[in-house]
Amino acid sequence: MWNLVCRVAALTLVVVGAQSIGAAGQPAPLPGAVQGWGFDLAGADFAIRPGNDFFRYADGAWYDRAVIPSDRSSIGVFTTLTITAEARIRDILEHGASGVDSSAGADAAKIGAFYAAFMNEARVEALDVQPIAPLIAMIRAARTREELADLMGAGRRSFFSSVFSTSIGADDKAPDKYVVSIGQGGLGLNRDYYLTPQLAAKKADYLAYMKQLLAMIGWDAPEQSAAAVMDFETAVAAVSWTNAERRDPEKTYNPMSAAALDEAAPFPWQRLFASEGLVGLDHVVVVENTAVPKIAAIYARTPVDTLKAWEAFHLADAAAPYLSKRFVAANFDFRDRTMRGVAEQPERWRRGVGTVNGTMGQAIGRVYVARYFSPEAKAQIDDLVARLRSALKGRIERLDWMSPQTKLKALDKLARLNVKIAYPDKWRDYSPLVVRPDDLVADVEAGRGFGWLRQVSRLNSPVDRDEWYMNPQTVNAYYDSNLNEMVFPAGILQPPFFDPAADPAVNFGGIGAVIGHEMTHGFDDEGRKYDGAGVLSDWWTDADAAQFDARAAVLGRQFDAYEPFPGVHVKGNLTMGENIADLGGALVALDAYHDYLGGRPAPVIDGFTGDQRFFLSYAQSWRDKSTDASIRQQVVSNPHAPVEYRVNGIVRNMDAWYDAFNVKPIDELFLPPDERVRIW
Ligand SMILES: [Zn+2]
Repeated sequence: MWNLVCRVAALTLVVVGAQSIGAAGQPAPLPGAVQGWGFDLAGADFAIRPGNDFFRYADGAWYDRAVIPSDRSSIGVFTTLTITAEARIRDILEHGASGVDSSAGADAAKIGAFYAAFMNEARVEALDVQPIAPLIAMIRAARTREELADLMGAGRRSFFSSVFSTSIGADDKAPDKYVVSIGQGGLGLNRDYYLTPQLAAKKADYLAYMKQLLAMIGWDAPEQSAAAVMDFETAVAAVSWTNAERRDPEKTYNPMSAAALDEAAPFPWQRLFASEGLVGLDHVVVVENTAVPKIAAIYARTPVDTLKAWEAFHLADAAAPYLSKRFVAANFDFRDRTMRGVAEQPERWRRGVGTVNGTMGQAIGRVYVARYFSPEAKAQIDDLVARLRSALKGRIERLDWMSPQTKLKALDKLARLNVKIAYPDKWRDYSPLVVRPDDLVADVEAGRGFGWLRQVSRLNSPVDRDEWYMNPQTVNAYYDSNLNEMVFPAGILQPPFFDPAADPAVNFGGIGAVIGHEMTHGFDDEGRKYDGAGVLSDWWTDADAAQFDARAAVLGRQFDAYEPFPGVHVKGNLTMGENIADLGGALVALDAYHDYLGGRPAPVIDGFTGDQRFFLSYAQSWRDKSTDASIRQQVVSNPHAPVEYRVNGIVRNMDAWYDAFNVKPIDELFLPPDERVRIW
């Protein structure tokens, strides 16, 4: 299955410049751009003892001054780079793609038309609810659960929702083939919101939002309908798996024939599949295998009228961003203001950029890299990756807790790790996608249908090893367990992560730790269950697996103890993979830096040693200030811990950090050597 895409970050902020790396584009440095060796000294708070709070030591002055833009939930390294990327994308959308080849030119006309449809606010306003009126009529006309299943399937090319998720990805046991996976679905919020008393206020806000949207589309008895929908979703939530449980690749791999699925979880599956375009499907993988039959049973006993109201609400919720102002405002108030603490709606152009970028991202990326990415950076990243790979190899060879036979398998996996840098070799073909400059809702539906049918049409072909699951302009990176590969889009290959002009310690602490993070995902609690060929298989001896689990459990307990708000704890199990990747990544990057020095002493710059600058850069790359609401939402469902713990919770497990900053037992972050987590 396809539970891979692991983000290095879901968040954050810059103080550091966002110059393009010697590219043809304009290097517009941002206010507060870092000069000199690559660390923003003015953003640090050197009055803090580094051993008490390293995040504040490195980033405190910045944090105190940083102001979250009113139309965002955070500011920081990631957000600032994203702001720059959005402005560049806007320029591409508004001014077309001069200087690119002709096939990219055809795509450019299409993205321009799509954006024009989004920006035609007068037309969107005049149409109001009209673009979804035929869809609402289809829901009203449905008489049976079978007919509703038809609509759920049609949602792949429209805005209908399904009580089950259907996805197509590599088969965990045969990753050269695609397989269809069936999983839990049907919820408008993460399951915890329905079931956790401390989150009851958000649940009440959600109920009010349901009622509001149902009233806006003229649904009968919106108040009673919303209450019934909430009861239905709460019942579904009660049988749904947590995000932490869903991280287990063994428990989520449950292959089943279509006939066995019918037996285990009676539901109009064939109607759903046929409507999704999945014809002749003989087997599937069931992800949450105890939840799926229970959700089918809840579906079977829920009145059809309630299911129709549920479908109508989710239709309005999904389509609202593309409708008139009153819909956009209602959707923003709940999804962004209430849930993420965003004060003001983003300007229309930003939402247009997000929509077109989300649908035709590679068409934009193709122009983006031609304008803003320097090919030399690709070679430099190649070199860094080689250094990191060699450093992790050394660490595996030196492990005192792993048997020689498991080490051999681990080293084989590392040797086979594939790397993709900056942008795809092969660009996506958007020629089947039809876009009109005057029909926004139809364009969004066409984009959804295009994305889904592209996957359906290749279901019986070998897995596409050239696939990119992120766009080149995205400020992020991921590891894919089935392809055993890591992918670094051009968007993250810029300061403060990477700058050819910066001090090497800064690059190793920035992009080096990012590369190490993705590399370590292949060996975190989830990734370690896949072998070098990307097959879900147990290549560990029992004793080695027990050692790994015991060490990981210590890290889990450390993170469980972190409390961003009184009574609100980080979930050590949910964030386990990311925390292991952060720790492994930082250790490997530091080793690679030392190897780069080759025994020569690092220069002292502004009074800081090489190791000190490495750690300062690491902390700088996690600079972020987020709204309280967004941190609360993150802690509920996001596998990444809040940034302060991604810094403090990591460095305190690294011996070199104690040496670099002379950290003593009286310091708050101090851990005795035998309590420091040592995995990779
Ligand atoms: Zn990650």
